[in-house]
Amino acid sequence: MSQVIGIDLGTTYSCVAYLQGEEALIIPNLEGNNTTPSVVSFTSSGEQLIGTPALRQAPTNPDKTVYAVKRLMGKKFNSAEIQELQNKLSYKLDKAPNGDVIIDLGGSYITPQEISSLILRYLRKCAEDYLGEKVKDVVITVPAHFNDHQRQATKDAAKIAGLNTLRVINEPTAASLAYGLGSKRNGKVVVYDMGGGTFDVTILEISDGIFHVLATIGDTFLGGEDFDNRLISWILDEFKKKEGIDLSEDKFALQRIKEAAEKAKRELSYTLETQINLPFIVSKDSESKHLQVSLTRSLLENLTKDLVDKTIPYMTQALDESKLGLEEIEEVILVGGQTKMPLIKETVTKFFGHEPSRSINPDEAVAMGAAIQSGVLSGEIHDIVLLLDVTPISLGIEAENDQFVKIIEKNTTIPTKKTMSFTTVEDNQRRVKIHVMQGENPRASENVSLARFDLVGIEQAPAGVPQIDVTFEIDADGLVRVSAKDVATNREQSIEIRPSAGLSTFELNKIMKRTEDQAEVEKDEETGLL
Ligand code: AMP
Repeated sequence: MSQVIGIDLGTTYSCVAYLQGEEALIIPNLEGNNTTPSVVSFTSSGEQLIGTPALRQAPTNPDKTVYAVKRLMGKKFNSAEIQELQNKLSYKLDKAPNGDVIIDLGGSYITPQEISSLILRYLRKCAEDYLGEKVKDVVITVPAHFNDHQRQATKDAAKIAGLNTLRVINEPTAASLAYGLGSKRNGKVVVYDMGGGTFDVTILEISDGIFHVLATIGDTFLGGEDFDNRLISWILDEFKKKEGIDLSEDKFALQRIKEAAEKAKRELSYTLETQINLPFIVSKDSESKHLQVSLTRSLLENLTKDLVDKTIPYMTQALDESKLGLEEIEEVILVGGQTKMPLIKETVTKFFGHEPSRSINPDEAVAMGAAIQSGVLSGEIHDIVLLLDVTPISLGIEAENDQFVKIIEKNTTIPTKKTMSFTTVEDNQRRVKIHVMQGENPRASENVSLARFDLVGIEQAPAGVPQIDVTFEIDADGLVRVSAKDVATNREQSIEIRPSAGLSTFELNKIMKRTEDQAEVEKDEETGLL
């Protein structure tokens, strides 16, 4: 089997790892860094920049520099999150014909899956250059809270990048694998994961090499960027007070402030005070203005304490859901760059009553875990025998009067399969509409729609007589398949679910053809054929 890589496709940064023997090692990017900004930029000369070069030139090209695309994966344009996010991004969003969100690059459009695929393709190239061999297979990670659309969109992105996804695993599960490798210890572990855009807390039970997720809960809209935004607002206010100039509408200045704020935030994890100096930020009456501010760790903590406090109820809820007491938690693992913030470490320590483990870099643990999972799949690693995961969100169908009937409850161990029987509501009804949904609300309209299909050809009978068995199946990647059977005729109708979001096979093939053609052109250019 050729080398498999593990990829943590992050909101702000991505990371790739491989397995050497039984050890997971990080693959540096082309600039020699262990993590790569998840940023893609399209220049006026038609060039595509990925990672650090894209981030570096973002100030001069804010509306064609795409960042935080993970937030858009598998999302509808009209959803509340996208509507809110729209005002915060420096690039434009629009509605695709199928209702999904799409990126508007000033007249040309690109899907979130294609942007993610460019990042994945870049990471694949880094791996191939580093390892000196072709890479095809990947284990890829997603936040535990990703629903089916989001997982599918991630797999589509990998496919466009020419990668074969062996397994999609939850990020906290991957992190626990990174910590669990070689460990013969049994016990309950908490993974507190705050990256650039999302927050999750997961409780796992590890016993004899088996990882079992007991509970996973979080907020898909809470992460390092929120901390950056608090600092940015404070800097804008300070500048306005001092110079009387509002920079909030100046995209160019804003991008520079954004970068400086993130850098200052990182520094404040290690020092108590830092400065931001941005010369020539704006000019007024032909006079250049410079932005100069001093920041302290305590100021940052005051500005963001409520964001850290917001994670406390999630920790309580995860404990409740896993039916564990605080004293039963043996180990707490911090994952995601934002957890390097001392206030987060202190808050987590205070809550659980002991110091979190930090022997592995929080930025790298997830990719390392993905690489370890690849070793488990290929048989290279023997001491971890099984990886059990749970579905983080309940699945079911819509019934009469906007009711949501759960078929697979949240926190059910996957892979799983469950069948429930339904019937008709009208006499001689020949067709039933099945609406597959994901969510926790008893009202169907409050949950996420996954797919709709009609079951036709039901035998004529009075209302309530026909028995229709609906079967839900979740595979090891957390992807969902639904089928239905009319028991009277014993005819199993195979039903293809058409997702109400995502790329169709036709669109996916079209994109893949386009990117393959482009890759061919690039190869020819490299070899001087054109
Ligand atoms: P990840 O996606 O896990 O790499 O997390 C990225 C987030 O972690 C970004 O919001 C970074 O600004 C943040 N981050 C990285 N390093 C630090 C640090 N030393 N202190 C605070 N936040 C950090």
